[in-house]
Amino acid sequence: MLTDNIPKKISESREYWRSDAINTVALPPVESLRLQAERLKVGLKEENKKEVQSACTAMLKELSTFYGVEKPSIRILSARPVEISEDWAEELFGDYDPETMKIRLWMRTAIKKKATSYGVLLSTFCHEFFHHLDVVAMELPNTFHTRGFYERVGLLYHHIQDTPVRKIVWHKNKDGTYRVDWARTMTRIPG
Ligand SMILES: [Zn+2]
Repeated sequence: MLTDNIPKKISESREYWRSDAINTVALPPVESLRLQAERLKVGLKEENKKEVQSACTAMLKELSTFYGVEKPSIRILSARPVEISEDWAEELFGDYDPETMKIRLWMRTAIKKKATSYGVLLSTFCHEFFHHLDVVAMELPNTFHTRGFYERVGLLYHHIQDTPVRKIVWHKNKDGTYRVDWARTMTRIPG
């Protein structure tokens, strides 16, 4: 995971650092989200696109109600079309269009047609929903990938998964962006 380049425009860089500083988010009641996530897991394993779609739609409904925002729509697709450029390695499996408020998730990779793992799909789902939340509720219209953004996504993901949140250790790059230091992140005691 790598943060976006720091924007040159003052208004945008203000938004960027505001997003960067928000590293916590209110978390919804989780029981039925976990049930839906379980449906997603089974649906994915059986390659049942309809079931994955229906589980994701149900989760979006819950999350949108909890955060008090309009529900985005979601489409589950098979293989990601090759012509779409893949500049963001962590985003191979989904996108969000702020204009149409539509999330798309791909169940397969473009080249090898390899099935997406459940963990990746769920984390992509959380990632795309938080783009939506940034835009419609947090006055972060550019919904930059910042340290704060990734940390918020991680909180929701681990909340649904019931797995311990790891404090992400960031490495500062020369250009001022950050990337995750996975080795140090993974060797830290969760908590
Ligand atoms: Zn993104």
